[in-house]
Amino acid sequence: MMIIMKSNATPQEVEHVIEHIKDAGLSVHLSQGVEATIIGAIGETHDLPTDQFEVLDGVEMVQRITQPYKLASRQFHPENSIFPLDGFTVGGEVISIIAGPCAVESRSQIIDTAYAIKEAGASALRGGVFKPRTSPYAFQGLGEEGLELLAEARDLTGLPIVVEIMSQVQIDLMLKYVDVLQVGARNMQNFNLLQVIGETQMPVLLKRGLSASIEELLMSAEYILAGGNNQVILCERGIRTFETTTRNTTDINAIPVLKNLTHLPVFLDPSHSTGHFDYVAAIARAAVAAGADGLIVEVHPDPVHALSDGRQSLKPEKFAAMVKQVGQIAEVMGHRLASVSPFPVHG
Ligand code: PEP
Ligand code: MN
Repeated sequence: MMIIMKSNATPQEVEHVIEHIKDAGLSVHLSQGVEATIIGAIGETHDLPTDQFEVLDGVEMVQRITQPYKLASRQFHPENSIFPLDGFTVGGEVISIIAGPCAVESRSQIIDTAYAIKEAGASALRGGVFKPRTSPYAFQGLGEEGLELLAEARDLTGLPIVVEIMSQVQIDLMLKYVDVLQVGARNMQNFNLLQVIGETQMPVLLKRGLSASIEELLMSAEYILAGGNNQVILCERGIRTFETTTRNTTDINAIPVLKNLTHLPVFLDPSHSTGHFDYVAAIARAAVAAGADGLIVEVHPDPVHALSDGRQSLKPEKFAAMVKQVGQIAEVMGHRLASVSPFPVHG
């Protein structure tokens, strides 16, 4: 339920409404926008009559949030969520690009990639260290050694690092190293993991499950938001369909649909969506044309010898060409690519 305050409501009136919500056993989410103060009453509200709030001083109106996700809904938070991450902004007019290998494999691989993607205009470096591989015999990632290499790449380039967390037992280790947590498709409905992440203040890139509906993705985001962590980026990464020519089917619809239903920033992963480097740039352009706030793209200096997802990884030159094209599409859409910060100076 949303309690929309009058524009001239006093802080005491806002406080009084908050007390009332708490007395009804609900939790409070205060959103102080430019235009209005909206107080969310979150919990079991269906049986609660709205008039007990309507009569309070300073209240303009009371509205029920009809969607099952509340904090994620645009009804509750009409303005786009925009938040700064280490060195770049997510949402708003800026298109941010996260790039890097599927998995961290060696020092030279991650450091060379970090320099190359930064030169090309990327805002953050990705690299998995615990990989959700279909086969238990496939390369599983370098673990903490991989995190140390990513931290070194961040020191050298200034790029924040985005790493997939697979289980809640990894949370302390991840918090020690990473700037953005990635929740992979296979863990989108690992609710215990989502709850643990919700208790942190760490930005999260939440990927859509292999066969998850848009509503299920939003309900997963709701788990993180309900814990008090507002920095959630949603990521479309292709879904399972009857089509087998490509690894997955890019649900381009998801971008305008999500932008309509939620205030959270929406990214697209053209690498896992297609599964082939030849199609990545086209789908990256399509995503930005459809209104995506950013991309996460796999880049590898030597894709043929990559230990995972080489087929869908772009060589740095191809990635640079893709960034240029995406920048042009962004301009048409009234957006612009995030500006690249200078390389750090080391004494
Ligand atoms: C990845 O980003 O490398 C990955 C495993 O993605 P997804 O969870 O979307 O399959
Ligand atoms: Mn991958």
